Amino acid sequence: MSSTVPVGRTRARPGAFGFLTDTTLCIGCKACEVACKQWNQLPMDDFGFTGMSYDNTGDLGATTWRHVAFIERISDREGRRPTTLAPFQSNWLMLSDVCKHCVHAGCMEACPTGAIIRTEFDTVVIQQDICNGCGYCVPACPFGVPALSPFDGKAHKCTLCYDRLKDGLEPACAKACPTDAIQFGPVHALMDRARARVSELRAQGVEARIYGDQALGGTGGIGGLNAFFILTAPPEVYNLPAKPELPQRRVLPAFLTTALAALALGIATLFSFRRVGRMQHG
Ligand code: SF4
Ligand code: SF4
Repeated sequence: MSSTVPVGRTRARPGAFGFLTDTTLCIGCKACEVACKQWNQLPMDDFGFTGMSYDNTGDLGATTWRHVAFIERISDREGRRPTTLAPFQSNWLMLSDVCKHCVHAGCMEACPTGAIIRTEFDTVVIQQDICNGCGYCVPACPFGVPALSPFDGKAHKCTLCYDRLKDGLEPACAKACPTDAIQFGPVHALMDRARARVSELRAQGVEARIYGDQALGGTGGIGGLNAFFILTAPPEVYNLPAKPELPQRRVLPAFLTTALAALALGIATLFSFRRVGRMQHG
């Protein structure tokens, strides 16, 4: 257990609403996936056996805004395989993944039409009547969340049930979750709850951490997530980036590097011409 990992800091705005997804409570029932599809009228996916896991949804996508990942671990921290543990331990990790409704949202910065907005709840929503399907938001998201739909060619992702929030209702996934693994509320209150839960788990010897807590390093240069997670393994185990970065933050360094390289090449060319000139005249 790491005791050096700080928990419980976020840069969310006062009044921001979000999700706390506690993976230690998830039983993998997928009620959240179904409730999301039902409320948002999303078509079914092309279900099939992926051959990778019992997770037949595979990933977040244009028609899957909640995705319950099933991660089967081969051994525990001591290297013991599930079949050698007594009593038998299935050793599954389950994570109901979703858009993180980032404090600095790469998708929103990249959108050229202003289709992606920050709402009064501090959530990030794509306005379907303005999206032109250019797809700039897709590579700009460090978590691979938005996707272009094969049905209408536009970008889609979780809206944090904006229509339900406007009517004072909690999002459909949080409402449907039978174990309260998905909790909805003001981000600061959820973070306090997450901090208390992590302390409780650590007291039981569980290696718990908050993903989305900027102090953990789990948000890189993004500065906080309004949808954050309690994990019991490093983020990479759940296919989450350990230190996500906004791709657009690399544009200025890349431009400066290219400009310096061009300058150095120009100077070298000038010197070589001068040298050839001297040789021809001397
Ligand atoms: S997770 Fe991706 S899609 Fe969601 S707000 Fe952040 S950058 Fe945008
Ligand atoms: S509804 Fe709750 S318990 Fe069921 S898969 Fe989703 S997060 Fe897990």
